[in-house]
Amino acid sequence: MSGKKERNKERREKRLQEISLLRTIAYSDHQRWWSQETVAVVTGANRGIGFEIARQLAGHGLTVILTSRNISVGIEATKGLQEGGFSYDVHQLDILDGESISAFVEWIKQKYGGIDILVNNAGVNYNLGFDNSVEFARQVVDTNYYGTKNMIKAMIPAMKPSAAGARIVNVSSRLGRLNGRRNRIQDATLREKLTNLETLSEELIDRTVSSFLQQVEDETWQSGGWPQTFTDYSVSKLAVNAYTRLVAKELCDRPQGEKIYINCYCPGWVKTAMTGWAGNISPEVAADTGVWLSLLSDQAITGKFFAERREINF
Ligand code: NDP
Repeated sequence: MSGKKERNKERREKRLQEISLLRTIAYSDHQRWWSQETVAVVTGANRGIGFEIARQLAGHGLTVILTSRNISVGIEATKGLQEGGFSYDVHQLDILDGESISAFVEWIKQKYGGIDILVNNAGVNYNLGFDNSVEFARQVVDTNYYGTKNMIKAMIPAMKPSAAGARIVNVSSRLGRLNGRRNRIQDATLREKLTNLETLSEELIDRTVSSFLQQVEDETWQSGGWPQTFTDYSVSKLAVNAYTRLVAKELCDRPQGEKIYINCYCPGWVKTAMTGWAGNISPEVAADTGVWLSLLSDQAITGKFFAERREINF
């Protein structure tokens, strides 16, 4: 391993140790804006990072709604919470299915009157190791970007007004960084347009992913200047990141008492089904920044991208 890689690895390990220490410190009464009446929804909560985020939020005393596209699998997963004295519920939710989303929103409004926290965790990736197949590109983009976007649009009207503000956390990836040194869109003009909040728009994000999918269909994507690693996945997460910033901008004018804060984060390389259990950290550690962002009492933070509880550049 090169000296630089070695130093980066050491830095990361030190940071993870700091975080595991921070996790042992209980939130003070002053920081705890939530109670058992606070409702958090986690998508794709039947396994992996989503289940861990749900478990940790429930451990902090919130009411957590675990959602799963297969309800039996979701119910089975909640068995892991039965011993903890947690407050939780489970509901079917397929983020690719408009009817499933509508039914979920109706149910949550009827039963809980709305929600306080939405964690968009559900996602797919069909590449492993050094693969870079785009065979499932449409499903990857539809799930990771459009599914997340549709959930945000459907849930914002169901977010309860509160003094502390509601929160949305999108589980994203460093692979979707716009301005990373490696693995980025090659077209500097497009990068600039997607970076600049004056030119960033939903239409631009949609057009960017559509252009990628069109090139996949035409089999020309390889010369299209797209990110080189896990290209379909990187494009989908790039869109999630850009959409996070856009929504934060759109929401920032809401009056006090109706604020909604939205951020995204990269959980790291995690031992879950998605990586074939080849990651270097556990789902428990990977969930930490998502839980931390869900519970932040610092209301000024919105439209940002985090990794290991630290802000990183988009
Ligand atoms: P898993 O594959 O273990 O879990 C993915 C979850 O998403 C499953 O619950 C899955 O449900 C669910 N899901 C997929 N499609 C849908 C859908 N249409 N509707 C509802 N739920 C759906 O992966 P991870 O826990 O590793 O991934 C969680 C998130 O973290 C993803 O967004 C991923 O992109 C992100 N991430 C993961 C990294 C890693 O190293 N693992 C790195 C960076 C980001 P089902 O069980 O039914 O398939």
